[in-house]
Amino acid sequence: MTARTSGLHHVTAIAGDPQRNIDFYIQGLGLRLVKRTVNFDDPSTYHLYYGDEAGRPGTLMTFFPWRGVPAGRVGAGQSTSTAFSVPQDSLGWWKDHFGALGVEPSITSADGEDRLVVRDPDGLVLELVASSTEDPRDPWDSASVPAEHAVRGQHSSVLTVADAESTLRVLIEDLGMTPVSQSGGRTRVAAGEGGPGRIIDVVADPRAQRGLTAGGTVHHIAFRVPDQATQEQWRRELVERGHTVTAILDRQYFTSIYFREPGGVLFEIATDAPGFDVDEPLLELGRSLKLPPWLEPTREDIEHSVQRITLPQENNPAVVDR
Ligand code: ZN
Repeated sequence: MTARTSGLHHVTAIAGDPQRNIDFYIQGLGLRLVKRTVNFDDPSTYHLYYGDEAGRPGTLMTFFPWRGVPAGRVGAGQSTSTAFSVPQDSLGWWKDHFGALGVEPSITSADGEDRLVVRDPDGLVLELVASSTEDPRDPWDSASVPAEHAVRGQHSSVLTVADAESTLRVLIEDLGMTPVSQSGGRTRVAAGEGGPGRIIDVVADPRAQRGLTAGGTVHHIAFRVPDQATQEQWRRELVERGHTVTAILDRQYFTSIYFREPGGVLFEIATDAPGFDVDEPLLELGRSLKLPPWLEPTREDIEHSVQRITLPQENNPAVVDR
């Protein structure tokens, strides 16, 4: 059996102030906070997960917010742009929406795709792509962004590397993705039948300075695997092919393995199950700090060390506070 991912699972980036991050991703981008937990490798800081209503794989954007974190440098060996899928005629609405928030987006067009480029408050590069392919995923219908324009989920991720060949080999031979197109220094590969949420664009830029992972940069990107049995199988295959792969780590909402591809980008392979309603009901996702069982004994210390945040009511519209 050869590993074959079904697409992007999530993208994880580094932010500064958590409240500013929450306000932008909920009210600016119209996503839902589907989990408020901590960085399991550094439990004194948050790990915030945004996505659609349920936080389905392929809609997830996650952050490690560290207040006062220095700005990183976007460059080679990183995912340098994260694109979300929006309906075809929505970019004008989004331009006005961001304009009203004081964010100045630009609209570009390439290879039959219109895209709006915007930076989040930490400078992270985001794109909204009006895909020519129909995106059947249901959006989160938030108070800030009406469903007709809302983000459908991840569209694609751009990887910038000095030499594309070895990165493409991993995507194609080790993750089972298929080359789709090539223009200039950009090669597009896709998982499964392709389309939004299944696309990686690899950009070869031999002159790019090496990226520095800190505020406003992507920390890693994660690919989907259906279950842990398949994940174990893939792990064995990746090791056989010469990759240095972590053990399977319990991330509470999925299990993960990580390895660094030769171009320098940190790859994760994450399971679809169990998902975000494993420790709180769907209606209440994101409302309170959730910890995995092994961190519960230190909850008091953790609650004391993380910054107090206020969640907009629109994140949980069906919950009435009493
Ligand atoms: Zn991750």
